[in-house]
Amino acid sequence: MCGIMGYIGERPAVPVLLDGLRRMEYRGYDSAGVAVISNGGIEVRKSAGKLSQLVKIVERTPLNGVVGIGHTRWATHGHPSDENAHPHADCHGRVVVIHNGIIENFLPLKEGLIARGHTFRSDTDTEVLAHLIEEAYQGDLPAAVEQAVAQTSGAYAVVVLSADDPDRIVAVRRISPLIVGLGRGEIFLASDIPALLPHTREVIIIEDGELAVLTRDGVAISRIGGGRVDRRPMRITWDAGTAEKDGHAHFMHKEIHEQPRALQETMMGRLPDDREIALDGVDLPPELVRSLRKLWVEALVEQTAISGPARV
Ligand code: GLU
Repeated sequence: MCGIMGYIGERPAVPVLLDGLRRMEYRGYDSAGVAVISNGGIEVRKSAGKLSQLVKIVERTPLNGVVGIGHTRWATHGHPSDENAHPHADCHGRVVVIHNGIIENFLPLKEGLIARGHTFRSDTDTEVLAHLIEEAYQGDLPAAVEQAVAQTSGAYAVVVLSADDPDRIVAVRRISPLIVGLGRGEIFLASDIPALLPHTREVIIIEDGELAVLTRDGVAISRIGGGRVDRRPMRITWDAGTAEKDGHAHFMHKEIHEQPRALQETMMGRLPDDREIALDGVDLPPELVRSLRKLWVEALVEQTAISGPARV
């Protein structure tokens, strides 16, 4: 599960983005990145590793801008590395994309894009979106995003920034969560409510199959391929600590109860139908897979405080 954060307003975007990402660290991640609209273009900083690594990079080479997006990645396609960290850009760096989830059909899309002259810089499934938006863009960013996602299958949340449309952020939800936070003259976007609570308690949940266009003054929501949606904001009455524990007395209790959903979200987008499991990152010959009789699931847990990495 990755974290998504977006900001459009009057304040410097980067501290808001980094604070939001930090509040979602409990979701787990292996890399992080931010992008802001700056001087008519888009500037990106990203890195494999902890958020503190990204913070150091941003301190060394600051980013100025009042519109931006941020991401913590949990790799599904392409190992954790600086290049594979989000945001991902189109060929000219005019469009950047962050994404939570899986684009199931990214391989044929990538092959088609390469054949049409696009240059890829990462091994992620996400990067196809940036290039598909680049191809579809004819002056209308939401329409280009809609055309791009219409070509994809999978389960995801996608957030897009364009240097050619610098006063808007466009987001699409297909299963993975996205929540808009309403401020005064500023609007926020996050994968989870705790990231929004330091700024606002007025939120709007983006539902499945919806596209949201954020400006400083509000959000316009529409159904993908359909009409406008009118949704009233709801008010969050609980505090950030309670929100993070989601009604449980302890984080460990919460995490134990989250296991079915975590497994479901991990497999989401890898089950094209109920007879097939698509593990396209696993490069094993079919005969070998057919001969398997037993499967162990092994997790690498970092125990830095005790004795270094351990297997369970
Ligand atoms: N599939 C994307 C990747 O591997 C997004 C993973 C995520 O949800 O963080 O980069």
